[in-house]
Amino acid sequence: MNKGVFFITIAITVGLLFTSCEKDDEVAKPVITIHELGDGGSHGNDYTAKISGELHIDIDIVAEGTINKIQVRIHPEGEHHKAGELEEWELDTTYTKFAGLKNTTFHEHVRIDSLAKAGDYHFDFIVTDMEGKQNSTEAELQIVNN
Ligand SMILES: [Zn+2]
Repeated sequence: MNKGVFFITIAITVGLLFTSCEKDDEVAKPVITIHELGDGGSHGNDYTAKISGELHIDIDIVAEGTINKIQVRIHPEGEHHKAGELEEWELDTTYTKFAGLKNTTFHEHVRIDSLAKAGDYHFDFIVTDMEGKQNSTEAELQIVNN
């Protein structure tokens, strides 16, 4: 092999590598749009839920790479509790029943525990597709006394 052919071979190989990388990036991350978030009893949209009640979650998902799992997390804003105090109520639920769908409307209700304290909470919604690509959205949530 002379030098010229050798360099052309390298150029083609590098070219192919870049082409395949770009191809991987063509599949977009899941797109998440919060439609409604609010009291479960009234299917509200005021970003508020009651202690011992339910939170109504209505979110549109478009996942080019196909949904694998969806995680819903609710946790108190900031670091409230001191040493020796009881752990504050948190929620961390993973849904796998939407696996295989390219788009869906996620309409689920989660229960707010009777031991939850009223206050400011953080709502995280994380979608992972079949290729491991992840996207998330978050919102401020108020938990109020029933
Ligand atoms: Zn609902």
